Amino acid sequence: MHRLETILTASLLTPPGRGAVAVVRVHASTSDDQNLAEQALDSFFVAVNGRPFSEQATGRLCYGHWKTDTSSEDVVVCRASDFIIEISCHGGRAAVARILTSLKTAGVTIEDWQTQQAGITSAFDAELSVALSRATTTRAAAVLLDQASGTLSNILQQMLQLEPCELAEHLDKLLAYSQFGLHLTQPWRVVLAGRPNVGKSTLINALLGYTRSIVFDQPGTTRDVVTGQTAFEGWPFQLADTAGIRNTTDELEQAGIERARRTAEAADLLCLLLDTSQPATAEDLALLDEFSNPARNNRPPVIIVAHKADLPNRWAEPLPDDAMPISSTTGDGVENLMTAIVQTLIPLVPSTGTPVPISQRQIQWLNRARQALATGDAAQAVAAIRNCLSGSPFESDSPSK
Ligand code: GDP
Repeated sequence: MHRLETILTASLLTPPGRGAVAVVRVHASTSDDQNLAEQALDSFFVAVNGRPFSEQATGRLCYGHWKTDTSSEDVVVCRASDFIIEISCHGGRAAVARILTSLKTAGVTIEDWQTQQAGITSAFDAELSVALSRATTTRAAAVLLDQASGTLSNILQQMLQLEPCELAEHLDKLLAYSQFGLHLTQPWRVVLAGRPNVGKSTLINALLGYTRSIVFDQPGTTRDVVTGQTAFEGWPFQLADTAGIRNTTDELEQAGIERARRTAEAADLLCLLLDTSQPATAEDLALLDEFSNPARNNRPPVIIVAHKADLPNRWAEPLPDDAMPISSTTGDGVENLMTAIVQTLIPLVPSTGTPVPISQRQIQWLNRARQALATGDAAQAVAAIRNCLSGSPFESDSPSK
């Protein structure tokens, strides 16, 4: 019978480009495809032990050569299971291209590893694998690996059996980690704001640990939003240093300032810098009022930095009690600021084995379940958790099926 879709696929698992070793995974979904895969391996792989690939034991690493009419590559091949064969070769592009091309001529479809992964595991597990590949620090990866190893799916399975009040308790615990979970794959965003010349570029460089933007004495020289990625206590952070926020008639600068305001709005945390070696200006006071007033909604948390603390204090106005004295020039207080940033954004670190939702899709279904429980609709809540587990995309305007 003619199949509509090919289900024998090959994918490069390792990042493209130069590397020590590359791994190509061949995946067959049916026994027909499995036979086709074995034939392909038999025609290109010559094992040093002299036996054809189809006679090699499952789970055994076989060293040999991948031979085409014009080339020969050193490879290690392993049938990981009945349906998966892994081929490890030299990490350069050429070896990978030769192996993928010859597999293609043997009837294997080449696809990206995320698509292949979705065909191997459930949509839920594939989502976790893709998230894991996007982690930028080992600490974030450890939490994602914990979820991918069953911590999250186990609790969701158990929740399907619970009475409504217990279910609500579990949902609240899970949802408390929403922001944490999302930031395992997207760094927490910290924006440094303040009028020109308060030392934003200098402080961002001190936080990043290297000099990446040139610092000028002329106010308004840091026109664009400058960003840098880093890790504090093993968690991923993106720091953005904005153009000075102030009223100006200079059009170019005005555009930079608008961008800065928008950047500040999209921040997870704002550091408002005040240069306490100078008397407060009207702009400083306006910024303090705009950003540190907790009565204003939709503002991220704010840390007030009393900057240039190495110089004599000429700031005569009242400062919030929790303003942090920092000198980027001497480094005094910079570590304290890093700690304060981490404690503000990650007040609770889940221990190993704690379930954490890690995608918008999961969080949306869990929120849907929580709302359904609040209206007394336990059946809808269970349906939403099922959708979360099955990997269904979230549908915002329809109730869960
Ligand atoms: P921005 O416009 O807010 O980005 O300010 P810059 O980072 O360009 O700094 C303006 C000036 O302040 C530069 O001359 C810096 O060397 C100086 N500066 C920055 N931080 C400190 C500090 O902690 N102490 C002292 N004494 N000078 C600083």
